Amino acid sequence: MPDYNLETTCVQGGYTPDNGGPRQIPIIQSTTFKYATSEAMGKLFDLEAEGYFYSRLQNPTCDMVANKIRELEGGTAAMLTSSGQAANFFALFNICSCGDHIVSSSSIYGGTFNLISVTMAKMGIEVTFVSPDCTEEELNAAFRPNTKAVFGETIANPALTVLDIELFAKVAHAHGVPLIIDNTFATPVNCRPFQWGADIVTHSTTKYMDGHGACIGGAIVDSGNFDWMAHKEKFPGLTTPDDSYHGITYAEKFGQGGAFITKCTAQLMRDFGCTQSPQSAFILNLGLESLHVRMARHCENGQAVAEFLQSHPKIAYVNYCGLPGDKYHEVAKKYLPNGSCGVVSFGLKGGRKAAEAFMKELKIAAIETHVADARTCCLNPATSTHRQMTDEQLIAAGVPAELVRMSCGLESKEDLIADIAQALEAVEV
Ligand SMILES: *Cc1c(COP(=O)(O)O)cnc(C)c1O
Repeated sequence: MPDYNLETTCVQGGYTPDNGGPRQIPIIQSTTFKYATSEAMGKLFDLEAEGYFYSRLQNPTCDMVANKIRELEGGTAAMLTSSGQAANFFALFNICSCGDHIVSSSSIYGGTFNLISVTMAKMGIEVTFVSPDCTEEELNAAFRPNTKAVFGETIANPALTVLDIELFAKVAHAHGVPLIIDNTFATPVNCRPFQWGADIVTHSTTKYMDGHGACIGGAIVDSGNFDWMAHKEKFPGLTTPDDSYHGITYAEKFGQGGAFITKCTAQLMRDFGCTQSPQSAFILNLGLESLHVRMARHCENGQAVAEFLQSHPKIAYVNYCGLPGDKYHEVAKKYLPNGSCGVVSFGLKGGRKAAEAFMKELKIAAIETHVADARTCCLNPATSTHRQMTDEQLIAAGVPAELVRMSCGLESKEDLIADIAQALEAVEV
């Protein structure tokens, strides 16, 4: 696609129909693909020719949608995965193996925190967590000779911290490793991390990209900016021959822009098989077509709800980077000038009991373990996802007992505020 504005790419990116071809992305619901000779097929297996042979590795529908996400992020290559969890695991495991080390922001999605700190630890990959607000010196101090990647989230779920991407990229590059950014909450509509030096971007497409709570999915995009060959000894998987592909060296054969995603597809998708189904990719693409329109409304509703809550006497505090007094307001002005997302968190003055009572009174906002879709939903981590923790542990985890996380959907903001107002009316503080 030519260099269109992001709105045009949301609608038309990734796929251009042939003359007489289907206007909408075709769902190629086929596990396999037919070839006239074994020789032709062999070339595909050897990565000597381009084409499809088995949908566990690649499927045309998934590639069209991955291509749209690639265009939106401004990258050189992209792939879809079965979930956001798979995307983050693949992005890290593609360049880290047993004996390696990761530096990660401590303010990340709970599932990713578990993945890195528990499951990847079992694979012999260690992690050092740093505060998203750390200084350059503190970040530098977290590195070891075996560090292979730095990881963080543009806007963290659920803490809503905003990462100084440029600083994290600068320090990562000074140590010869890439910065991987999970851009799920911001989406490329509100932040394009490659512009600030990130090297790899991941997504849980389950959230705003799908946007309708309809299908689980993930994506990985490569900026093509990281020079693997310049750090040859750190990334042998990309810079030395792969015996499982007849001695191909990915960084040589597919270049700086193609090596990461080709290796991730050829090895990790082949061996772990966390593919997205063509049907899900089609649904994801319907979400992408309106992403720019929906994000603007999610942000408008989030801002209005945050402002209302901040002015309410029963509310102790509100976390939303769009509020002038917020801790992340200044950093958000730089990275998120057009808005952040629809997720707001806040504390009720009456503590845990008041939070529970408040949520019971809400009529529009449903109690759900989900965020970032068209319907407003809310969650009190202390009584649900984090209920095994003591009050002290909850504070340490950044989700104090009274905290409510509300994901503002696409409903009327007047209705959302009226619903919150009547629920607050009903609780005693
Ligand atoms: C939800 C989420 C994930 C995990 O995505 P799934 O699609 O649920 O596997 C990863 N990162 C962030 C920031 C998320 O919000």
